Amino acid sequence: MNKIANRAWAATLLAIVLFLGLCTIVLRYFRDSKDWYLHQSNSDVYSGGHLNSGKVYDRKGTLLLNAENGRTYPDDALLRRSTLHLLGDVQGNIPDHMMEYYSDELTSYDLFGGTQDASNVSMTLTVNGQIQKAATDAMAGRKGCLGIYNYKTGEVICMVSGNTYDPLNPSEVDDSDAYAGVYVNRFISSVYTPGSIFKVVTSMAAIEQIEDLDSRTFFCGGSCVINNETINCNSYHGKLNFDRAVSKSCNVVFAQLAVELGPEIMQKYAEQAGIGERMLFDGFKTAAGGIDTEGVPENELAWVGVGQSTNRINPCQYMTLMGAIANGGVAAKPYVVSKIRCGQEETYRAATTMGDRIMTEELAARLDQALHGAVVESYGEWNFSGLYVGAKTGTAQRGGGLAANSLLTGYIKDEAMPYAFIVVIEGGGSGGRTCLPIMRQVINACLVAKDME
Ligand SMILES: [Zn+2]
Repeated sequence: MNKIANRAWAATLLAIVLFLGLCTIVLRYFRDSKDWYLHQSNSDVYSGGHLNSGKVYDRKGTLLLNAENGRTYPDDALLRRSTLHLLGDVQGNIPDHMMEYYSDELTSYDLFGGTQDASNVSMTLTVNGQIQKAATDAMAGRKGCLGIYNYKTGEVICMVSGNTYDPLNPSEVDDSDAYAGVYVNRFISSVYTPGSIFKVVTSMAAIEQIEDLDSRTFFCGGSCVINNETINCNSYHGKLNFDRAVSKSCNVVFAQLAVELGPEIMQKYAEQAGIGERMLFDGFKTAAGGIDTEGVPENELAWVGVGQSTNRINPCQYMTLMGAIANGGVAAKPYVVSKIRCGQEETYRAATTMGDRIMTEELAARLDQALHGAVVESYGEWNFSGLYVGAKTGTAQRGGGLAANSLLTGYIKDEAMPYAFIVVIEGGGSGGRTCLPIMRQVINACLVAKDME
C-alpha cells in the first residue's frame, strides 16, 4: 500500500511540475515572443546582422536605403558615401543605431501570425540628402565632421563624418592613414580639442562675471607671460576692446580673462554650456567633452581659457550651444528620425523637445553681438551669402608635430533657416582658411534646398 501511495504522490507531483512548466511557457510566449521573433538569429527579420526594416528616406522623400531584404543602396555613389555613418554598413563595422533603436516601431508582430511585410515599412529622416552630399563633397575626403541642425525644431539637417567610403565597395578601405578611424561617426563619437571656438564659453563667463568688461581696454603685444609661461597670440593686436578680442580671437586677452575668472568660474560655465554632457537621440549617444581646472596653475588655466590644455568638446553637443545663443538661451534637442510607418500605421512621429535653458536671454544677446561682429569684422559676411550669421573659428594645436585641427561653429538667424552648424577638419590648419570655404559651399546648398521646398 505504501508503495502505491508513494507512486501516486510522485505522479501527482510530476503532473504539477509539468502543468507549471506549461503555464510558464504560455506566459512567456505572450510576454516575450516578440523579443524571440526579433532575435538576430531570425533570418526572416535580420539579414547579415541588420534588421530587414523597409525603406529609409531623407526629408525630401529621396530613398537613402532599401532594407526590405538585406540592403540595397541608391545608384548615387556620393549619396551612399555621405549617409554611410548615419545608416551603418552591410558588414556591421558601422552600426545602424536608428534601426536597432526603433526595431519595435519598424516591425509589426502578430502573436499568432508572427510575420510582417517589410515592403510596407518606412523610416523618414530629417536630413537632406542634397546637403549631405554637398558637405561630403566640400570636405573632399578629409577626416572630420560637419553638422547642421534647426535649433528651433531640433531637426538635424546634415550629419556627415569624414573620411568615408562607398558601402557598396568596402574593399576600398585599407590600412593606410587615409582610412584611419573610418568606421567612427566623428560627429557623434569623437571629442576634439576646441581651440578658439572655446572662447565662446570663456566669453559667457567674462560677460556675466566681469562687471566693467565693456568699458575695458586690453592690450596685446603678440604674447604675454603667465606664471613664467609665454602664451603666444596669432598676431600683434595692440589696444582692443572685448568685442574686437572675440573677432580677432586674441589669445592674450582670453588667457588673462581665464586667469582673472579663476578655475571654479571657468569650470562652472563649461558645465553650464553642457560641455560634459552626453546627448541621446534616436539610438545615437554622443561622446562627452569636458575641461579640467582643478588645481591647475595659472598658466594652464590660461590655456583652458583659449581652448587648449585638456579641453575637449563633442561636435554635436557644441553645435547645440550655438543654437542656444541664436535662440535666446535655449535650443531644441537634436533628432534625426522624423517618422516611421509600419503597414498602414504610423508607429512613430518625432516631436520638438526644448533643452534646458543654458544662459539668460541677455547673455545670449551679448554673445550674439560679439559673434556676429566676428563675422562682419573678420570672416566676411560674403562667406555666408549675406545671411545674418554669428560664428567663431578655431585652430586647435595637437602637439607631436601634427598639423592643427581646424574648426568653425556658428548659427544663422533666418526665419526659413534657423540653423546652427559646426565643421571640424582634422589637420586642416587654420580654422578660418580651411573651414570657411567648406561652410560657404554647404550653406549655398542649404539655400538651394530651401528654394526647392
Ligand atoms: Zn592678440
